[in-house]
Amino acid sequence: MLNGEMKLARPLRWGMVGGGQTSQVGYKHRIGALRDNGAFELVCGAFDVDAERCTEFGTRIGVQAERCYGDFHRMLAEEAKRPDGVEVVSVATPNFTHYEITKACLEAGLHVICEKPLFFTVAECEEIEQLAASKNLIVGVTYGYSGHQMLMQMKAMIEQGKIGDVRMVDLQYTHGFNAADGDHLSEAQAWRVNPKTSGSTFVLGDLATHTFYMAHRILPNLHIEKLMCDRQSLVPAHAPLEDNAHVLFHYNNGAVGRLWTSSVDAGNMDAQRIRIVGSKASLQWSAAYPDDLHYQVQGEPNQHLHRGMPYLDEQALEYERMGALHTEGLGDSWANVYLSIALAIDAANRGAKDELEAVQYPDVKAGKEGVRWLENCVRSSESGSAWVAYQ
Ligand code: NAD
Repeated sequence: MLNGEMKLARPLRWGMVGGGQTSQVGYKHRIGALRDNGAFELVCGAFDVDAERCTEFGTRIGVQAERCYGDFHRMLAEEAKRPDGVEVVSVATPNFTHYEITKACLEAGLHVICEKPLFFTVAECEEIEQLAASKNLIVGVTYGYSGHQMLMQMKAMIEQGKIGDVRMVDLQYTHGFNAADGDHLSEAQAWRVNPKTSGSTFVLGDLATHTFYMAHRILPNLHIEKLMCDRQSLVPAHAPLEDNAHVLFHYNNGAVGRLWTSSVDAGNMDAQRIRIVGSKASLQWSAAYPDDLHYQVQGEPNQHLHRGMPYLDEQALEYERMGALHTEGLGDSWANVYLSIALAIDAANRGAKDELEAVQYPDVKAGKEGVRWLENCVRSSESGSAWVAYQ
């Protein structure tokens, strides 16, 4: 259980690129990083494309004006001159900038925590993976809900044989916020549907990379062998990128899966759902009710497991904060992701290899696998939604 005790000898000096006043995701990063006493300390930022807005906003969230920078190149150059310069940088900017900013930070000797989808291509991910390894630096990826304790409970129960052999994986990440989009798109929406700024996908990268990684955290031994992807732009203003997609896939153990992702699922507020069906029982979790896990044994009454209860597995209780009855949610899950990345950075800095290997966090490989998933989905959809061997 976590109770605010310091896990690191001192906080990591942390900066942000992006995540400014108008950003959708910036506050989630700060909630995650600053939740646990002494893991991170926000010292600088190039928070915005607009330099004036960067300083105005940065100072209002407590950063010294001289450490609010008009662009990330200047931030890296100026911080390198300081004895108390930044050590780790989060990248919370539109997708097309992730690779350039991450590479520049690593070259400056800084750890990186980057948004998803990590980059545009697997080749870029491999290059960054090698660069980070050569400099003993960590690259984490903010799959925000992947730190939720009830996902760890699902993993533990499956490992313990509680559902039998895994047969089906049913994933969903859909919402309806773009169902009514006309031709006029907001700034954040416009870059998401432009291949130059979003990459080769919209909702597959924007939403489904989260659920894909969460399923992998629960089922680390299952690997996709082939898939087929059917995707379309149901709102013309989103073309050429998809606002809706269905993906079918086969795993190496004979299990089959399906994933539906959409931003035009009008009215749906139960966005993310994970159901794992085994030969004896099923487990089901939903992001809308994250503290609850449904365990359904064939022929028996359903069981409803609650977050924070002592009957849960150690893996689920390790990152508990509030205790049962007191709801947690997305902010706490982000804090778990950030804390695990801080522990990985600390272990890497101390050269503690065994400790580093023991930390479970979304790393550069997880980012790369997300991009690989996108490349395979695109290859299938561009071949008339044919089944393709997973590469
Ligand atoms: P947004 O358009 O709402 O905000 C982007 C922010 O980055 C703005 O503050 C903008 O001024 C700033 N910015 C843009 N280019 C910059 C640059 N070169 N230097 C400094 N600042 C710059 O976008 P968003 O919705 O916040 O998404 C940002 C990233 O986060 C995307 O990659 C997106 O996929 C991801 N995202 C992740 C989650 C999650 O749950 N992990 C949620 C939302 C978005």
